[in-house]
Amino acid sequence: MLTPSHRFRDIERTAVYLQPEKCVPPVAQDSMDKVWFIKDGCGIACAVVTWFLVFYAEFVVIFVILLPSKDLIYSIVNGIIFNILAFLALGSHLRAMITDPGAVPKGNATKEFIESLQLKPGQVVYKCPKCCSIKPDRAHHCSVCKRCIRKMDHHCPWVNNCVGENNQKFFVLFTMYISLISLHALIMVALHFLYCFEEDWTKCSSFSPPTTVILLILLCFEGLLFLIFTAVMFGTQVHSICTDETGIEKLKNENPTWEKTSSWEGLKQAFGGNFSLTWFSPFSSSLYQQVPLDEKCAVTQDSNEYVVGRIVGHVEIIEIGQTN
Ligand SMILES: [Zn+2]
Ligand SMILES: [Zn+2]
Repeated sequence: MLTPSHRFRDIERTAVYLQPEKCVPPVAQDSMDKVWFIKDGCGIACAVVTWFLVFYAEFVVIFVILLPSKDLIYSIVNGIIFNILAFLALGSHLRAMITDPGAVPKGNATKEFIESLQLKPGQVVYKCPKCCSIKPDRAHHCSVCKRCIRKMDHHCPWVNNCVGENNQKFFVLFTMYISLISLHALIMVALHFLYCFEEDWTKCSSFSPPTTVILLILLCFEGLLFLIFTAVMFGTQVHSICTDETGIEKLKNENPTWEKTSSWEGLKQAFGGNFSLTWFSPFSSSLYQQVPLDEKCAVTQDSNEYVVGRIVGHVEIIEIGQTN
């Protein structure tokens, strides 16, 4: 639905180079291109650092804290909990990174496609001039992914991907498991420090006392930093799901043009159906019910129509009019 604020929020310019006929249809992709992976150097580096930090925590927890401990039950129970959390965190990270966040087909703003939408005179569609696609409501263009993403929340370099409609569940799980693993590591570091103070420092670890202290302090910093960062992110994400407002929409502070869902409905949509254990699994899909663009826009065809394109802000508005 086009509102006055949409029409006039930016200065209009002439749409000379953005006519629908200038858009070329997307080329057929081979199977390798179907794997969603953003080739961004900074994002790849951040993702590698994330994995490295989890493995560093694994190393310290296993070789400095748990293996030298004399309490076998304590070591086994904490080892199992920590490894399960680490596995789920990395699984969520991987799924968040290689899941298409809800990219709109590139270059679909062709004359044929717009005609196939069978729009009524007076109806409008939004076209992204950067990726030449018809933008569904609530989609935003990401300059890193170079695509328009449905319900884009933000582009996260730590998962080297956009957080959008299709992968928000994995991102929420990633922040949740990283904050849990950080909290667990912090508790174990604190207990181990106490244990080393009570015992002899040479006996509480298989490393030398200075190395043990440095490794534990580094893990402590890492745990604190990630606990704060991911717990805040987790809270923000759950809040945005419950209020049905993405990070970008909140930032722009625009009046909602969509019908807001209830908190519970929002959670069910993001996590894939009714509440069950699969909500917490990064290996089950989010099963989001997508409404194809054609269904949203399909109406009866009118023969005497013309198409006008004009740029408003960062989008081109293609308006359907009647010839007489
Ligand atoms: Zn775009
Ligand atoms: Zn992106």
